[in-house]
Amino acid sequence: MQTPRPRLSLAERLYLPQIVDGVAVTTRHFVRNLTLHTLHLFGLARDKRAAVTTQYPEERKVYSEGYRGSHRLTLEPDGAVRCTACFLCATACPAKCIHIEAGEHPDPQIEKYPVRYEIDTLQCIYCGMCVEACPCDAIRMDTYVHPRLWGYRREDFIETKAVLMERSRVLQERGRDALMEDMQRFYAQGGGALPADPQIAPPGDATGA
Ligand code: SF4
Ligand code: SF4
Repeated sequence: MQTPRPRLSLAERLYLPQIVDGVAVTTRHFVRNLTLHTLHLFGLARDKRAAVTTQYPEERKVYSEGYRGSHRLTLEPDGAVRCTACFLCATACPAKCIHIEAGEHPDPQIEKYPVRYEIDTLQCIYCGMCVEACPCDAIRMDTYVHPRLWGYRREDFIETKAVLMERSRVLQERGRDALMEDMQRFYAQGGGALPADPQIAPPGDATGA
């Protein structure tokens, strides 16, 4: 037996009460925020918070300590990539967005290294399974940087090994704020494909480290 549809009153069918309600809510917030911001200018009512719009990307949001936004490949003390190309992260990844190409390492103590390590951030769901799966602590998401959100081509959203290693180097040498500053500067300059660091991936370097 079908459930009878609820009948709308004439006022509800006109939508006028809802429109009036909506305008009233918007007006109330507008007046409240305008009043509070004006009072704050004169040093009054500072304990009452007014709504604030963050003018991103010029203004920075403060991320929580638990924020995990972007990946990085960790480095050995000599700056080489720690990853041993075991493919566990790529296997664990539910979005199948990690692409690794393994190569023989010139050091006989190390079996393999990633010739290519790429993350397609358009497919990534930022679940952290790759970090959990890694037995070498070679991939982390502790950069406190959000993913890049701009680009004109699909390739602009693919993070290469050089980019992922560069994040670790910047984090170690200049701190987490520097990562965001670099990203904002890059955005202000027009964006495009992320630049690879020639110091990290010099042409002809067998290890890419
Ligand atoms: S965060 Fe999740 S979806 Fe993204 S690369 Fe890691 S495992 Fe894959
Ligand atoms: S990042 Fe870790 S899990 Fe992924 S291939 Fe490298 S060593 Fe293996």
